[in-house]
Amino acid sequence: MRILLRSLDRSPLGQVELADGDRPIRAKTDLGHDVILDWEAAHDDDGHLRRCPACGSADLYRHRRVPQITGFILVLVLAMTLASILGLVSGLSFLIAIAIIILIDVCILVLSPESLECYRCRTSIRNIRIAAYHQKWNRERDRTVNSGN
Ligand SMILES: [Zn+2]
Repeated sequence: MRILLRSLDRSPLGQVELADGDRPIRAKTDLGHDVILDWEAAHDDDGHLRRCPACGSADLYRHRRVPQITGFILVLVLAMTLASILGLVSGLSFLIAIAIIILIDVCILVLSPESLECYRCRTSIRNIRIAAYHQKWNRERDRTVNSGN
C-alpha cells in the first residue's frame, strides 16, 4: 500500500510505501517528515482499512483517480473535432478514429484504480482492497465531518 500523507491542516507530508501486513508506528516520508501512524482499530474483521492511519478518522471515501492520459486524450479529441468543424479533415474514417479514441479513454477511466481518502485530513491510501461499505465522496458528509474546522 502507498499512503500519501497529509497533516490535519491538509498540507502534504509526502508518501510512504508499505508492504502487505506492514504496520509501522513511525515512518519517514519521501519528503523527510517523521510521521506517527495509528493502526489501532484501523482494519475491520476482513482486513480492509476502515480508519485513517494518519489521523484516526473513520470517515473515509473511495475516489477514482483520473489518469493524466485522459486529459491529453480529451485535448486531442477537441483538436480533432475543431479540425473537422473547420473542414481541414473529414470522412467516415476520421469519425471512426475519434470514436475509437473516445472509447479507449472511457475504458482507461473506468478501469483506473480507486484510492481510499480521508474526509478529515485528505490522506490518500492507494493500492489496497477497498471495503464495499466505503462510499464515494459526499458533500454533505464532508461538511458534517469538517464543520469543526
Ligand atoms: Zn485522516
